[in-house]
Amino acid sequence: MIHAVYPGSFDPVTRGHMDIICRAAKMFDHLTVAVARNLNKPAGSFAADERVELLRRCTANLPNVTVDVCDGLLADYIKRIGALAVVKGLRAMSDFEQEFQQALINKKLNPDMETVFICSSVEYTYLSSSMVKQVGSLGGDISDFVPPEVKEDIINRIQNRA
Ligand code: ADP
Repeated sequence: MIHAVYPGSFDPVTRGHMDIICRAAKMFDHLTVAVARNLNKPAGSFAADERVELLRRCTANLPNVTVDVCDGLLADYIKRIGALAVVKGLRAMSDFEQEFQQALINKKLNPDMETVFICSSVEYTYLSSSMVKQVGSLGGDISDFVPPEVKEDIINRIQNRA
């Protein structure tokens, strides 16, 4: 049984994230989507609990996917929940450099864990959570960028903050 973790900020979840989640769910027996709550980084636009709730709604039809919050070191979290692999999505070479360094550090901290990179589907290569927030806060249409079941909540949240 191979258990993988897909970590990220998911601030908020996008169709690019969902593409990686659906593809990883087919590759592994169980996938935990881990919302990182990094206490050293400024708080995201969405609270960790909100990000979890949006992800749970989008993954409700994927029986081998669960959503959790991850505090602290990813290498320790992986050990604690008994997972083997970390899944990362790659949009461009610019993602690679940082992800490669992180994968090597994680391997050093936890030699049992493996990092698996999944290439973004070409239609989502340009997509990021920050772009969704930027377009949405200026009144742009984000329908193609976020899953339909959470679109209204994301728009309300982004526009109430602005
Ligand atoms: P962002 O960089 O948009 O703030 P996150 O920290 O939430 O994203 O990203 C979590 C993971 O999802 C990372 O591995 C990131 O590279 C990947 N990812 C984000 N957006 C996409 C996308 N559009 N296509 C593929 N992978 C993505």
